[in-house]
Amino acid sequence: MSDAQPRGFLSETGLLVRAVYRAMRVTFINFVRKPVTVHYPDRPRVYPDRYRGLLALTYHPETKEENCIGCRLCEFICPPAVIKVEMLKGKPRNYAKTFTLELYACEFCELCVQVCPTDAIVMMKSFDMATADRRELLLDKDRLHAIGEQFDASWATGNRLRDAQAPPKKPKPADTAPTPDPVEAGGES
Ligand code: SF4
Ligand code: SF4
Repeated sequence: MSDAQPRGFLSETGLLVRAVYRAMRVTFINFVRKPVTVHYPDRPRVYPDRYRGLLALTYHPETKEENCIGCRLCEFICPPAVIKVEMLKGKPRNYAKTFTLELYACEFCELCVQVCPTDAIVMMKSFDMATADRRELLLDKDRLHAIGEQFDASWATGNRLRDAQAPPKKPKPADTAPTPDPVEAGGES
């Protein structure tokens, strides 16, 4: 009985020392490891090409005209109904007379981008618009265009996304015509 007590005490002490050693080893490794934290906003992060950040309106790169034709497809598709567009009829094309987007209620689902026929609404590779005032996130047409000029756009545009989802194109009839059997072709001649 008297021998068993010191043996139990020693094994418990050994377990305790091993547990402390393992914990301290992990602590020490992390203490000398290079930090993974990015010191945002002092050091801006590089976002992936398909990043879905702020929404913006675009201009045509050559004509510098607004790409939006006021068709309202984005308004109809938007699940939380945060887009409102008024069309301005014109010739040879229409415009958006007003365009508002309540960014504070946006789900960032990208559906508006997917349906836009003219790549007028896109998402930016940035979320850099934090504010404590919700009114600043009610974006009108001018602010949406300004965001489009300020940040880099994501890869995704309506036309690119639709192309990516389209079924593979069928080969042209000329490509599918059977090639003549060289043996038969040789026999006939
Ligand atoms: S990303 Fe989705 S929720 Fe946000 S405006 Fe576009 S359709 Fe609406
Ligand atoms: S942003 Fe695109 S989908 Fe929305 S109204 Fe303009 S052209 Fe139509």
